[in-house]
Amino acid sequence: MTDLALGIALDSALDSALDSALDFGTALPAPQPWDERTSTMTTSDEFTAISEPQTQAMRADLEEQLQWREVQLRDLRAAVDGGNDDTARLALLADVAATERAVAELRRALERIEEGSYGRCADCAGAIPFGRLKIRPLARYCIACQRRHEIR
Ligand SMILES: [Zn+2]
Repeated sequence: MTDLALGIALDSALDSALDSALDFGTALPAPQPWDERTSTMTTSDEFTAISEPQTQAMRADLEEQLQWREVQLRDLRAAVDGGNDDTARLALLADVAATERAVAELRRALERIEEGSYGRCADCAGAIPFGRLKIRPLARYCIACQRRHEIR
């Protein structure tokens, strides 16, 4: 259950906290020179919206994750109903809540694909690089805006 809870945390609640640790190196297609004096990145990739095939790949990925989470949620709820140990029940209820959050976030991301706003930063409307979306399919902000949110 620990691995499961961690997986959920990675996807949702702790997203922004973990983002800063994971963005560099992993979100970029190749190592980029980083200028310590500026806080914005200027790779051309940053301004290129994801293509239609890339969007479809993300949709398939999100749908697969959603299906998996829904199965997980059903199993967790059944376990809550079947359990009689209060401590285990509390842990399961926390997992249910986290999984419900993950399901809601995945549904919202799929809605954004339908609306055509997926892959666009919710703050500056700039393109979120495909490399970042592959690692953080639920990312709503570009890297620069995400950092601003963390500083706030
Ligand atoms: Zn932005």
